[in-house]
Amino acid sequence: MVGWYYWDMRVVVLTGAGISAESGLSTFRDSDGLWEGHDPMQVATPEAYADDPSLVQRFYDDRRAALSRVGPNAAHHALARLEEVLGEDLLVVTQNVDDLHERAGSQQVHHIHGRLRSAWCTTCDVRHDWDRPLVDGPPCPGCGASTLRPDIVWFGEIPYGMDLVERALWDCDLFVSIGTSGVVYPAAAFVHQTRGATLELNLAPSAGASHFAESRQGPATRLVPAWVTELLGDGSPTSP
Ligand SMILES: [Zn+2]
Repeated sequence: MVGWYYWDMRVVVLTGAGISAESGLSTFRDSDGLWEGHDPMQVATPEAYADDPSLVQRFYDDRRAALSRVGPNAAHHALARLEEVLGEDLLVVTQNVDDLHERAGSQQVHHIHGRLRSAWCTTCDVRHDWDRPLVDGPPCPGCGASTLRPDIVWFGEIPYGMDLVERALWDCDLFVSIGTSGVVYPAAAFVHQTRGATLELNLAPSAGASHFAESRQGPATRLVPAWVTELLGDGSPTSP
């Protein structure tokens, strides 16, 4: 990264399951192919929801409840620290549906796959911050209909805000991918959509590692704080 000076940098960070895993949240990309004992096709598709809404609601109710038993880790905190310095020049794009970035203090977070702590009313098409179970069909605070579903982008649905993400990728100076497998589109293509420098931080080389200018391996809780410290130096801007 020689030659980069952080105070005029625009940075896009993509985070995936690897960063949440170190806080104790399991992912359906685990080696057994299951997500907390469920085949993702039975809990993460519109068809599954149509077939058995209670099963799907219960599954996400459990995931939502589990959030209160975990907390952000050193990698989340390091990204929040980076935002304190870069401000709006840092965008965190996450595949994760948890709220660990926000709880660490990050404000510019875009969830392309939705959020567990949000409910989407399919009658009035409004999303509401949500912290309770949905399985019993609570009324929508807006229209009163019992048609709230998890605000999660399921397989076969379109990720949120891709226009915004593609613009940010095109305009950034540095794109950093953290803790993602490199196999889930559209995120797997982000490295090809940026004009900026590219860096991967992942537990093991991802499927797309060869597309990054640099790839570092190790736990996010070690690599991310080290990278942020390296980028910010001692925290005081000096002239080039
Ligand atoms: Zn509604």
